Amino acid sequence: MADKRDYYEVLGISRSASEDDIKKAYRQLAKKYHPDANPGDKDAEAKFKEASEAYAILSDADKRRQYDQFGHSAFDGGAGGAGGFDFNSMDMGDIFGDIFGDLFGGRTRRTSNGPMKGPNVRTGVRITFQEAVTGVDKELELNLKEECTTCNGTGAKPGTSTETCKKCGGKGQVVYTQQSLFGMVRNVQTCPDCNGTGKVIKDKCPDCYGSGYVSRRKKIQVSIPAGIDNGQSIRIREKGEPGTNGGERGDLLVEVSVSRHPIFQRQDYDIYSTAPISFVQAALGGDVRISTVDGDVLYTVKPGTQTDTKVRLKGKGVPTLRNKQIRGDHYVTLVVQVPTKLTGEQKDALEKYDIAMKKGDTDSPEPEKEREKGKKKFWK
Ligand SMILES: [Zn+2]
Ligand SMILES: [Zn+2]
Repeated sequence: MADKRDYYEVLGISRSASEDDIKKAYRQLAKKYHPDANPGDKDAEAKFKEASEAYAILSDADKRRQYDQFGHSAFDGGAGGAGGFDFNSMDMGDIFGDIFGDLFGGRTRRTSNGPMKGPNVRTGVRITFQEAVTGVDKELELNLKEECTTCNGTGAKPGTSTETCKKCGGKGQVVYTQQSLFGMVRNVQTCPDCNGTGKVIKDKCPDCYGSGYVSRRKKIQVSIPAGIDNGQSIRIREKGEPGTNGGERGDLLVEVSVSRHPIFQRQDYDIYSTAPISFVQAALGGDVRISTVDGDVLYTVKPGTQTDTKVRLKGKGVPTLRNKQIRGDHYVTLVVQVPTKLTGEQKDALEKYDIAMKKGDTDSPEPEKEREKGKKKFWK
């Protein structure tokens, strides 16, 4: 390790150099010694590696501090006991993304100058429970990128035109080989000068600053189908961001939030609710009025209906998304109401009823002791 040069010396900077100084110094060296610029030059390759190593350490605040304190020995005895700098422990993506991204315009996303669909845009809309059942048309207002009318989307100032990009010859891509620490890597990347369009704008359009797009407030009609459920999205094709190089627009994804209903609850396409019935209706049977999403319906309760009886109203649920005609069911829990306020006349009637019930009971066997206790208490 004795012959290892000082990292600051390698980069030609002072010990008090700022982050920017370090980056600048490395950029210069990397440009100078990059294997692309010096094919087959072993000396340049070694210098490139040396500078990369120095940069890797000094650009990392923690590692720089360790290096300042302990010198090269800070990184001795690393993985494999080889001593020196352990490249494998570094995130090389960070370094190359950081530096070569700048140097070669190498955004790592894979692009071409062929037509590319624009990004999708997401938005949301809130509707009522009933609207989810019947379906509804809504108007949304949102900012959408539109082609700039001043320059017809070219980005060039009216009267001027775009030129073929010199860097990529209009192809939109540049190919270069990159010296990685694991060998030479061939890379195809979006041309940094023209951003993959193959054209450069000399005089930018004053209205869109050369982007070719302006943002406009737009009204968009959304037809929300019957049966939609909370959290589901509707895709409106080609209402997203514009595509590039003639590609179609992205889509607009509208997420639907359905408000809760005071009475109805939904599960899939079925609806659940409770309905009160009177004690007399429960005992004698008869028609009860039940609220559904189609309005009130009359349901005939059987005599002797117990509280919490569940009844099914077939086809009174939510329409399915596939076919409006096919609907879920509505399940109603009948809850027998016990009167809390009674007039004297009503009380008399109930007492008479009670006596009548007891007479009907005389045939039944003697009640057990425990039940008798309860009865005594009742009669006190
Ligand atoms: Zn424009
Ligand atoms: Zn280009």
